[in-house]
Amino acid sequence: MAHDVTLIPGDGIGPEVCAAACRAIEATGVEITWDVQQAGAAALERSGWALPEATLASIRERGVALKGPVSTPSGSGVRSVNIALRNALDLYAGVRPCRSFEGAPGPFEDVDVVLVRMTGEDLYAGIEFAAGEAATRRLLGLIAEAGHPEPPADTGISIKPISRTAAARLARRALSYARTTGRRRATVIHKATVMRSTDGVFLAAARQVAEREFPDLALDDCLVDTACHRLVRRPGDFDVLVAPVLYGDLLSDLCAGLVGGLGLAPGANLGDEHAVFEAVHGSAPRHAGRDVANPMAVILSGAMLLRHLGEADAADRLEAGVAAVVRDGEQVTYDLRAAGDPRPPCGTAAAGSAVAAAVAASS
Ligand code: NAD
Repeated sequence: MAHDVTLIPGDGIGPEVCAAACRAIEATGVEITWDVQQAGAAALERSGWALPEATLASIRERGVALKGPVSTPSGSGVRSVNIALRNALDLYAGVRPCRSFEGAPGPFEDVDVVLVRMTGEDLYAGIEFAAGEAATRRLLGLIAEAGHPEPPADTGISIKPISRTAAARLARRALSYARTTGRRRATVIHKATVMRSTDGVFLAAARQVAEREFPDLALDDCLVDTACHRLVRRPGDFDVLVAPVLYGDLLSDLCAGLVGGLGLAPGANLGDEHAVFEAVHGSAPRHAGRDVANPMAVILSGAMLLRHLGEADAADRLEAGVAAVVRDGEQVTYDLRAAGDPRPPCGTAAAGSAVAAAVAASS
């Protein structure tokens, strides 16, 4: 059966890694009709909008997309296209599996954790009060009125909202993911000892969902700072991590570092109606157009997409293709070359072709 999927190449290294990924996905033999749409810098240039309505309409119609990274200039005041996309399509759960590949440089050989991260609310909600503005001054007054020491007048404030409803929905999604993928345990990541009104609510909601709806799974919790320490010492302590937005963002890069880097870290943004698959990494502007970026993270995101489309066998073969190429070590990009390895790294396109060849050979 042919599938209709939206393809957003993105900007920076996005178009290169997406082209390589599409070649590898096509080698599985699964028929996909890609509807190519723009977002990010490319879209801004062409249409004046970083997230055109046509891109959203395409995903709404097809229900599923493969997306390359898009840049958000820091400190520019431009809202993140990624956050806008997740909000517009109500993609409330970011699923980021992280596992070791034989042959990839990394401190461990047996990492196998999945981070399920909230994508709305929290400190990325964009509720910002710049220092000196009238609304900020009113807010500072309100803080003092509520009995807290009034912050200095030049204070800026970023608000961290976390609702019980969103936390429960995320926990439900994370625990059903754990159940359907044969995992046994989930750990809630938080700092409820300090932020009782937000992280405390996140933890309590997860506990309630687990107790009422998932008695077959074990749920525990861990302070985010302790989790960082334990992950870099004993990643085997963890199975599924359930985290609010900011901690999840930080932990997913940390977890990628445990298994050889961002070039091997795939992801999915899931809602009840739509799913957008994309690598954890960003647009790496300094590598753009140089044919050096690693396409494996987008290829592995493609495997998650195939599984979502019900093409489990093709997904297995695509993942096995990546594993074979990384294990072999001949056709890998610079980031997967261990220090001292004299072999020259290959380029983005060659790495994608090597996976496509490995997949084709397995058919
Ligand atoms: P980044 O992930 O783009 O790059 C950080 C570094 O990691 C790069 O300099 C590079 O050395 C390495 N790297 C990343 N991906 C790689 C790959 N595929 N192969 C080889 N090396 C790779 O993070 P950044 O520099 O903080 O962000 C750059 C831009 O990307 C920013 O505008 C940011 O907002 C955006 N971003 C987008 C997404 C997304 O679209 N999902 C995610 C994160 C960051």
